[in-house]
Amino acid sequence: MKNATLFKKNDIVTVTIEDIGSDGEGIGKVDGFALFVKDAVVGDVVEARIVKPQKNFAYARLEKVLTPSPFRVEPKCAFHRQCGGCQLQTLSYEKQLEFKQNKIRNNLIRIGGFDAAEVDAKMEPIVGMEEPFCYRNKALYPMGADKEGTPIAGFYAGRTHSIIANTKCHLGVSENETVLVAVLDYMKENRVTSYEEATHQGLVRHVLIRKGFTSGELMVCLVVNGEKLPAEEKLVERLIGIAGMTSISLNVNKEKTNVIMGKKVRTLWGKDTITDSIHVRDMSKEGFPRTGRSLQFHISPLSFYQVNPEQTEKLYSLALEYAGLSGQETVWDLYCGIGTISLFLAGDAKKVCGVEIVPAAIADAKENALRNGIKNAEFFVGKAEEVLPAFYEGKATEKAVEVGRVGDSDMRHPDVIVVDPPRKGCDDACLQTMLQMAPEKIVYVSCDSATLARDLKILCDGGYELQKIRGVDQFGQTVHVETVCLLSNQK
Ligand code: SAH
Repeated sequence: MKNATLFKKNDIVTVTIEDIGSDGEGIGKVDGFALFVKDAVVGDVVEARIVKPQKNFAYARLEKVLTPSPFRVEPKCAFHRQCGGCQLQTLSYEKQLEFKQNKIRNNLIRIGGFDAAEVDAKMEPIVGMEEPFCYRNKALYPMGADKEGTPIAGFYAGRTHSIIANTKCHLGVSENETVLVAVLDYMKENRVTSYEEATHQGLVRHVLIRKGFTSGELMVCLVVNGEKLPAEEKLVERLIGIAGMTSISLNVNKEKTNVIMGKKVRTLWGKDTITDSIHVRDMSKEGFPRTGRSLQFHISPLSFYQVNPEQTEKLYSLALEYAGLSGQETVWDLYCGIGTISLFLAGDAKKVCGVEIVPAAIADAKENALRNGIKNAEFFVGKAEEVLPAFYEGKATEKAVEVGRVGDSDMRHPDVIVVDPPRKGCDDACLQTMLQMAPEKIVYVSCDSATLARDLKILCDGGYELQKIRGVDQFGQTVHVETVCLLSNQK
């Protein structure tokens, strides 16, 4: 192997890309020295420019594709290299799925310490998307201005806050572009300015668009650095003609902050919320057909809601299938958000308790339970790592009082615990209490297979055994993947 001085910044090298890194970059080797080449596709032979030489490897940039990979496809979006949103648009969807399956597998082996043969025996084939574009039900466009000061809508250029004009994102629905053009026309006609971060001047910060895929209902919410917009009726006039338009609102955000939405929403026209349904699917059948059971949700501009409704149905149905409920079980759903998984589970369980840190999400969860006539679900605000131990220990702590019937023995030793934590995974205090509660089954839904693997190791060291694992692709063209695991208690 040659030493680190082999490469200098701006050197051009020829390299064959043999692997895909966790951020989607191509990985190749030159004389045993690894190169991480952004935008290169596995199977390509490329010319790359060294941008950042390190001791044992270097970051490089794609200069020229010499021999294209058989897995290379024409990207749909002209901005795929500049925009931080997609990382895998030039890789065939089939190969994207293989990459995600391997990512989960490798993390379980490397971080989780599982045997490769065990993982291979227990891992089911990843659930891919039928159409890996136009799948997002939510779009959030930052607003800016071009050199002449004319308002533009677009996206932030990778790792910056400068906006590149583009009204068509191929991951979103076609209505997004129609809405953005209408908003921009309204702004130009009425001399409404875009917000400028540097000076904290200007009005429109973001445009949020949401679509209920089952209802066809459309929501538009303008995030504004102020209480109102000039000639609001002109904005409404331009938007109400768009098919499906149901709710037009304004969100007030006058803070100097990176947080996108403010707390206050004022409806300008139509309803405060849109509706969407999530259907249960039969995950054991080809094509995962809907079973006829569904739940209805009302979504406000501030509600958290999964962005890929088609795949969310499959993800939740898989969690439900892994939970294997008969109607008699007691279940905890930790990190429950607006209670979507909890309400799915409640249909097949004796009782479900959801825990979630965001109070507004719990308010939505309670309303969603009422709306769907579900009476056997209860929801608690708090950190899972605080609520669960307080409940288990039955201490008269503030949290335990909040949780109510301290020591409810059914819920102290539930049959099933479902967790769906954010990327950082579960807190250790949460995992330890789960082990003490000793449910027969644990269903772990994860959006980061590295922290999933770390947490599974702890649960398996504590007496659980991995039964099944399955990836679900919720985010085609990106490197992200969801995973569902079933663990069973061996004690
Ligand atoms: N299961 C839900 C939400 C999953 S996202 C759904 O499918 O819609 C993860 C959720 O965990 C978010 O709603 C987030 O607010 C919540 N969360 C983050 N940290 C938490 C903690 N320490 N305790 C409880 N909930 C937490």
